[in-house]
Amino acid sequence: MQTEENMRTDLWTLAVALYKTSLSSHEEVEKWDRHAMAFDSHELEGNTFTIGVADSYSAEYYSSLYAEPLRFALVKAGANEDITVQFKVTESAEKAAQKKQSLEQQRKVLGDTQAILKKFDSTVPLNANYTFENFVKGPSNSFAYAIASAIAKEPGGSTNNPFFIWGGAGLGKTHLMQAIGHYVMSHNPEKSVCYITSETFLNEYINAISNKAMEAFRKRYRNIDLLLLDDVQFVGGKVQFQEEFFNTYDGLMTYGKQVVMTCDVPPKKLNGFEDRLVTRFQQGIVIEIESPSYETRIAILKSKARNCKHKIPDDIFNFIGENIRSSVRAMEGALNLVIRFMDANPGMEITKQIAQVLLKELAEEEVTIRRLSVEEIIKAVCAFYDTSYADILSSNRTQPLATARQVAMFLSRKLTGKSLPTVADEFKRNHTTVLYGSQTIQKRLSVEPELKKSIEQITEQLGRKPSELFD
Ligand code: ADP
Ligand code: MG
Repeated sequence: MQTEENMRTDLWTLAVALYKTSLSSHEEVEKWDRHAMAFDSHELEGNTFTIGVADSYSAEYYSSLYAEPLRFALVKAGANEDITVQFKVTESAEKAAQKKQSLEQQRKVLGDTQAILKKFDSTVPLNANYTFENFVKGPSNSFAYAIASAIAKEPGGSTNNPFFIWGGAGLGKTHLMQAIGHYVMSHNPEKSVCYITSETFLNEYINAISNKAMEAFRKRYRNIDLLLLDDVQFVGGKVQFQEEFFNTYDGLMTYGKQVVMTCDVPPKKLNGFEDRLVTRFQQGIVIEIESPSYETRIAILKSKARNCKHKIPDDIFNFIGENIRSSVRAMEGALNLVIRFMDANPGMEITKQIAQVLLKELAEEEVTIRRLSVEEIIKAVCAFYDTSYADILSSNRTQPLATARQVAMFLSRKLTGKSLPTVADEFKRNHTTVLYGSQTIQKRLSVEPELKKSIEQITEQLGRKPSELFD
């Protein structure tokens, strides 16, 4: 017979499984797993589902993140419609946290900091798939790949340190960064490797302050040989934390430790960062990971499908490669949908037509996800008309430069989703000038097929569909 305790666990386990299924990325799942480690107990009393945590900061933080989605998942898993979820400081959670802390204190008293550090190292949550072997090289990432593997072989020192990788979402920054971690951990096991997102880093810092554990926090982060700090943009504006981070960072550098960071923008475009940090970030090597080319996209898809039990037709790879370009993560999503379809419908051939229906929403999302920047557009126009960025921004009105400039204005209006004043700003012009330029091209298009063809070509070069220009 099942005990009541048993049944409760079942509801929770199922709800968690449903919640995790609803998450859209590995990272979100990993983040959940990491957070869930801090949940001490859970229990259902009446219609209130209570999850125990160690302190009020955690209760508030986790509640804002998870109370609602967990409620939703619990209902889906069979709980009463009007169930509520709360995170609460419980005695047992407090005790568990204290025990953990006093254990660390004991070790410290024994002068055994190394043990704490080792314990910490062994819990580095690296994704097992994010290795160099599983990373497909292509022109969009080969430079970053080369630096990453050089660092993996010889971390630290003054070359390539820090290594600052930047680029759009889902292009492989975390993967490449963790590949360095995997390599060092297996080839240099005595080195301590720390992978952490800047969000978690910040939270640990806040926890350390509220638990008066700054000493331990500092020690921990200053004894690392390889610090992999993911998504640094997140700590923009967090002034007090940046102060602490600056010291940690300088400490690591002084001792020749390796720092690798990822970010969604290059250092000079970071918002809310102290100048001295930005300067530090630029002292090593800064490299962009770009969107993969068509060939690389197909190679990545085939590599991801390597272990799949179905034989996916080339047509389908090509279809995904042509239609899903915004990120590798989005491509993986499309591939998984195809695999799920094949799992659910054994024996049914997946045709291009079926793929079209299956991936319709993803393909439509693409168009809105992939927001181009004005800068990208100007660069593409420059390449096409064989002119320079400075010329486009200049006041020189000779032809064909004037046309090139107006084409760039037209495309910026159509493809960036940015407001007229913002676009005008980037052209260093008045917004009426940009409006006029863009309207001029619009008019010329209908009577100049040559011009139309050129614009379509540039649009395709930018990874977008010419049809977007004409609706
Ligand atoms: P980012 O950190 O830039 O947002 P991730 O590193 O999380 O992106 O990558 C998203 C997904 O795409 C991951 O599953 C990763 O394995 C995959 N991926 C990205 N680039 C490549 C590549 N060049 N080869 C193989 N997989 C890749
Ligand atoms: Mg990432």
